[in-house]
Amino acid sequence: MTSSAQLITSDRPQEAGTTIETTCCYCGVGCGVDAQVQDNQVISVSGTQAHPANLGRLCVKGSSLHETQRSPDRLLTPMLQGEPTSWDTALDYAAQKFQAIIAEHGPDSVAFYLSGQLLTEDYYIANKLMKGFVGTANIDTNSRLCMASAVVAHKRAFGGDTVPGCYEDLEQTDVLILVGSNTAYAHPVVYQRIARAKELRPDMKIVVIDPRRTATCEIADIHLPIKPGSDAFFFNGLLQYLAEHGHTDHDYIAAHCNGFDEALAVAAEQVPTPEAAAGICEVPGEDIEHVYRLFAAHEKVVTVFSQGVNQSSSGVDKGNALINCHLATGKIGKPGATPFSITGQPNAMGGREVGGLANQLAAHMGYDNPASIERVAQFWQAPNMARAEGLKAVDMFDAIHAGKIKAVWVMATNPAVTMPDAGKVREALQQCELVVVSDCIGNTDTAKLADVVLPASTWSEKHGTVTNSERCISLQKGFLAPPGEALHDWQIIMRFAQKLGFGEHFNYRHQVEIFREHAALSALDNTAGVARRGFNISALAEISEQDYENLSPIQWPVTIESPKGTLRLFSDGQFYTPDGRARLVPITARLPVKTQLPNQVIMNTGRIRDQWHTMSRTGTAAKLLGHVDEPYIDVHPDDVTRFGLLEGDLAVLKNRGSVYYGRVKPSASQRLGEVFVPMHWNGKYASSSCADALVNPYVDPICGQPEFKHSPVMIKPFRQAWNGFLICTQDISPNCEYWAKITLDAGYKFRLAGGESLTNWRTWAHSQFPEISDWVTVEDSDQQFFRTAGFIDGVLQVMFSTATDKKSAAEMRWLEQQLGRAIDASGRFAILAGIPGAGVEDEGAMVCSCFQVGEKTIRKAISGGCASVEALGEKINCGTNCGSCIPELKAMLR
Ligand code: SF4
Repeated sequence: MTSSAQLITSDRPQEAGTTIETTCCYCGVGCGVDAQVQDNQVISVSGTQAHPANLGRLCVKGSSLHETQRSPDRLLTPMLQGEPTSWDTALDYAAQKFQAIIAEHGPDSVAFYLSGQLLTEDYYIANKLMKGFVGTANIDTNSRLCMASAVVAHKRAFGGDTVPGCYEDLEQTDVLILVGSNTAYAHPVVYQRIARAKELRPDMKIVVIDPRRTATCEIADIHLPIKPGSDAFFFNGLLQYLAEHGHTDHDYIAAHCNGFDEALAVAAEQVPTPEAAAGICEVPGEDIEHVYRLFAAHEKVVTVFSQGVNQSSSGVDKGNALINCHLATGKIGKPGATPFSITGQPNAMGGREVGGLANQLAAHMGYDNPASIERVAQFWQAPNMARAEGLKAVDMFDAIHAGKIKAVWVMATNPAVTMPDAGKVREALQQCELVVVSDCIGNTDTAKLADVVLPASTWSEKHGTVTNSERCISLQKGFLAPPGEALHDWQIIMRFAQKLGFGEHFNYRHQVEIFREHAALSALDNTAGVARRGFNISALAEISEQDYENLSPIQWPVTIESPKGTLRLFSDGQFYTPDGRARLVPITARLPVKTQLPNQVIMNTGRIRDQWHTMSRTGTAAKLLGHVDEPYIDVHPDDVTRFGLLEGDLAVLKNRGSVYYGRVKPSASQRLGEVFVPMHWNGKYASSSCADALVNPYVDPICGQPEFKHSPVMIKPFRQAWNGFLICTQDISPNCEYWAKITLDAGYKFRLAGGESLTNWRTWAHSQFPEISDWVTVEDSDQQFFRTAGFIDGVLQVMFSTATDKKSAAEMRWLEQQLGRAIDASGRFAILAGIPGAGVEDEGAMVCSCFQVGEKTIRKAISGGCASVEALGEKINCGTNCGSCIPELKAMLR
C-alpha cells in the first residue's frame, strides 16, 4: 500500500508492510524515498519512481537510511547542566537567561545558529521569532558555509536568489561544465543522471574544472586541474574570448541585460587571452581554449557550480564571473542552457526562502529596502522588528568569543567541528554565558559544550517541507513517533517563544499552519516592479491540511498563473531587478587570501562518498564506514617523498595551533603541493582529525562564506612508537595520541598509535576497561608483541593487539566477527594466536557498500575477464544497487 494519500502522524504507529513516500534527509539533490515500515521500524528504503529529482534512484547514503535509524547516542530527554530535566524546567531556564541577557545588553547580545537540515516550517518560525519578536537579525545557519556566495551572486545578477534551471537541463545540455563540484560524491544521484545522459548521447561534452582529479572525472571529456581559487580568471578569460570571437548575443544583451560593457572591459584587461588564463590557472592553453570553443559553439551549455566555487574568499565574484558568460550569450532560461548552483544540504534552499541567513529578512526580501522591513513587521505583527542585518556565522562566533553575544542557541548542527578555526569556536562556546543545543544526538562535539541540550526529532519522525537545488518543494514525512521526550524543532521553538511571552503569535497546531503563513508572506505585495520577488508560492497559501499531507513535489514559483509549479525561470528574459534586466557584474578576479610558504601544502577539504557532515547518522552504520574507515590525507606522490612520508603511515597537518592526523594516501589526482582531507571526522570518531579546525577564518567580504578550499598548512610524518588496534563492544575514548573509531555491527574498532613507547601494555589496555576482570593475554618478554582479550560471562568484550601493520585484513575481519560472542577455551586460544576461522577472506577496502564487495574481489574479477561495469555487476553484484561505486569501478577497470 502506498500511503501518499494518507494522513501520517508521528503519534500513529504504522501497520505492517506500509510504504511511506518521503524525502531523503541528506544532500541538496532532494531524492524521494519510499520507506517500508513494519512494527514501527523502517525495514528498507528505495527510491520513489515518480519523484522528479531521482526517478527511483538513491545513492548509498540514501539507500542506507534504515540502517542509521537507531543511534545509541540518541538524546531522549532534556538536559540541564548535564542532568536530565523536564521540558518546562529546561525551557524556563533558557528563556529566563535569554530575557535577562536581552534586558541588560540588548537583543543583539543573543543569537540563533541554525542548519540546512531543518525543515522549512522549523526555519520559518525560528526566523520570525528572532527577527520580529526578540528583535535581532543575529540568526545565521550552516548554509553560510555552503552556498552563501551563490545567494549573493544570484541577487546581484538576477535581482533575487533564484536558481534558473532544473535537473533536466543537466541531461538535455550539449556541454556540461562542472566547476568546483565533485558531483559523484557530493550529489550522487545527479551524477548518475548525468552519467546516464552521457551514455545515451555520447556526443554530450562534459568538462570538469577542479584542482583535483575526482571520481566525477570518470565521465569527463576534459578535466582542467586549475590552480585553486583561479576560477574567476578562467571565466573572465571566457567572457573576453566570447566577445573577441563574436560569440556574444547582442540582441539578448540589448533586450535583457545591463553592465555588459563594464564587465567585459574588466575581464579583457585582466585576462586578455586564453594564454593569459592558462598562465594564471596553470593548465595548458590549448585545454583552456578547447573549453572556451565548446562554450562558444553550443547553444545548450550548463555550468554547474558548487562548494569549490562558493567556499572562497571571492566566491560571490566567481559566481558572477560564470553567470556573466551565460548572460552575455543568452544561455539562460532555455532547455539545456543555464548556470546552476547545486546546494549541499537537503533544505539549504528552504532556509533561503524563509530568510534564515543574517543578511536576509524573509521570503526573498532584504534589509536593503525599508518598505520590506515594514511589510514584514506588519505581516508578523512584530513588536520588536530587527531593522538591520545581523552577524554572519564567522562574525557571530567571533562575537561570542569576544563576549558580545552572551547566549546562543544551536539547532541541528555541529559548529564546534564545521566552522573554520573550529578550536576558537569551541573556546567561544565554552566561555559563552548560555549555550542551548537542540539536536537528535546528545553527545556531538557542540552538545558537549552546552548548558541546555534539548532532544529533537529526526528523519522518519520530523514532518514538513524541504526544497532541493532545483526549487522543488517536497514533503519529508513523519511516520514514526519520536523516541523518549523528543519534540519537533518547530514545537520546541514555539514553546520557547511562549515562554518569552509571545505565545499569541506562536500558537500553531500543525505544520500546515506555519506553511500557509510562509506561503502567504511569499505572496505579500509580490507584484511587478521593485517588490517583485522570485520566491512566490501564493497558490499554496490556503492549502488544506489534507492537501499538505498529499503534497506532490512542486517547483516554485507556484502561483495562480503557474499552479503546477515552474520548471525553469527567466525564459521570458525578465529578471527580478527593478527594471527587469539582468546585471553583468564587472569582476576583478583574485586569488585566495593566504599565500603558501615553501614548506607548506595547500589543504583542500571536502566530502567522501559514504559519509554526511559530522557523521552523527552515517557514522553509526558499519556498512557506510567500509568504504573509507579512517581520516586520511591525499598527497601527491612527489610530496610524499619530499616530506618524508610513507604510504599507509600517519601524517600530521598543522595550522593555527590545531592538528589533523590522517593516513597517507599517495595520489596522482592531487596537484603538487596540495593535499585533500575529508571534512567529516570529529571528536566522536577520532582523537584529533577535525579538518575545519585548521581552516583559516578568511571569508568572502560580501557574503561571509569561509575559504574552506585553500588553507596553507604544515605537513610532517607522525613518528609512531607503537600502533595497535582495539575492538570492543562499548564506546570509549582510548587514552592515546591517535585513535580513529569505526562502527562495527557488534561494537567498535579503533586504530591506535602513540608517539611515545608504552611501558606496560597490560596496564594500559586493562585500564581502559576497569569493569572487566576476565582477561587472557599473550606477550613476549621484550614488549614487541602483546595481545589481550577480555570477557564478561564468557562473551568476548574486548580484544587489543599491538602491531596492527603485522595483521592481515582477513585476521582482523575474523576477530571483528567474534566480538559479542561466547568463546570457549579453544576459541580463546585462536583469538590470542590470531588464527582466522575458515572461509574468512581479505576483501580489501570496501568499494561497493551495498553488497559489501571489496577491492580485492573486484580486481580478481577483472583479472578473470570482467571488462565492464555491467560484467562486474553480473558476476559479483557490485554497482548494481545505488550505483555510487560506479566511478571507482570504472577507475579500476581503466
Ligand atoms: Fe539522499 Fe543520495 Fe539523493 Fe542526496 S543523492 S538526496 S544523499 S539519496
